[in-house]
Amino acid sequence: MQIIEDNGKLREYLTSQHLSGVKLGFVPTMGALHEGHLSLIRESVRNNDITLCSIFVNPTQFNNKEDLLHYPKNLEVDKSMLKDAGCDALFLPSDEEMYPNEPIIGFTLGYLNNIMEGSFREGHFNGVALIVAKLFNLVRPNNAYFGQKDLQQFAVLNIMVKELFFGINMIKMPIIREDDGLAMSSRNRRLNDRERKVSVNFYKALLLAKENLELGGEVGQTKKLVEDYFKTIDQVHLEYFEIVDSETLLPVNSIKKNISVALCIAGYVGKIRLIDNLIL
Ligand code: AMP
Repeated sequence: MQIIEDNGKLREYLTSQHLSGVKLGFVPTMGALHEGHLSLIRESVRNNDITLCSIFVNPTQFNNKEDLLHYPKNLEVDKSMLKDAGCDALFLPSDEEMYPNEPIIGFTLGYLNNIMEGSFREGHFNGVALIVAKLFNLVRPNNAYFGQKDLQQFAVLNIMVKELFFGINMIKMPIIREDDGLAMSSRNRRLNDRERKVSVNFYKALLLAKENLELGGEVGQTKKLVEDYFKTIDQVHLEYFEIVDSETLLPVNSIKKNISVALCIAGYVGKIRLIDNLIL
């Protein structure tokens, strides 16, 4: 696997690949890789001639300094996991490489900035869109792979790609979970044993809501059910539970047969913020 640390070398590598007309798959990540990330890599390897992964802990998308400071890092293990998964190249830029100057370009992102993750993490999606736009311009992949785990991030990036004519195929992959149902996340490794045990309640609450809706429960009543569920669980602080249209991510008032809905949840276990969702 080729390791590339600066934009110039990346261009050299990609030019040599593009010249032979290869299909390029791209998987942007922040490292501390797990099976969720690897599922994206493997899908890219299956469907492209070359797969490039990036690892960059993007400072502009962190609205919480502590979170950025303590973001897990595991580079040597990441490299060997990527190699084993068949990844061809790893782009590992420094902060200076990606942000040679303070960015003055920004994304407003409309209503997506005012709902769910957008309203709880000020500036987060601007940072995400900015870094992915930079990476897309450098890499110019045919296909880019993202996880449904970050459903709202996918919606933001999908709109960015369409509005700015990036011409990149955006592929959304299912959430990979631990055996007990907790969605895999790099941040899970910051949970202590007790926190790790209670963190499964986000997934349990999603299942509870799903069952309630399938039994004919109403949207408002289901939201109340989930909110009440968390009142009984110590160490978990629910930030939001929303029932939304899975494409637009706008809240729905009722469940209709022809509209796919997503159940989205976020909150803290101790100091660690976790998110999860389920598409019905
Ligand atoms: P991150 O390193 O957290 O920025 O994630 C990089 C990519 O992996 C994003 O597209 C995430 O949505 C995706 N991802 C993270 N966790 C999972 C998971 N449990 N299952 C599937 N994809 C995931």
